[in-house]
Amino acid sequence: MKCPYCKDDDSRVLDTSHDRRGGTRRRRLCLNCDQRFSTYERAILDTPLIIKQDGTREEFNRHKLIRGIQISCDKRPVSAADIERLVGDVESDLQSMGEIEVSSRVVGDMVIAGLKEMDLVAYIRYAIVYLGLEDLNAIRGEIDALLDS
Ligand SMILES: [Zn+2]
Repeated sequence: MKCPYCKDDDSRVLDTSHDRRGGTRRRRLCLNCDQRFSTYERAILDTPLIIKQDGTREEFNRHKLIRGIQISCDKRPVSAADIERLVGDVESDLQSMGEIEVSSRVVGDMVIAGLKEMDLVAYIRYAIVYLGLEDLNAIRGEIDALLDS
């Protein structure tokens, strides 16, 4: 770790503390110029953790997402390659958000938006299962909106 004063590489850690966001702060003493400085490290996952509806977190699971979409696309003219591409897009969109964690709802919305362009029946099926459109009126409203557009 380079000293910000003299750019020397040798420093001694005086103390280390951890914060609630998973970060680590280290107070350091430069062995060359005796100045003190602090460093802060935080591990960032490539893909944010997914916050489930019950509040627990889980790692983004590509295969699980593909599986869910496959079920919605059963007997629909959507190829495995299309599904792979959609999940790949979702994953890279999540990574480019630069967040540590995002709601599963965000992931659901991305999938929904992608399916809406690929296949409307798959889109409605996915919406029913993953967005919880259990209410028949909500499902009808969604279908009416599609038929109107
Ligand atoms: Zn120094």
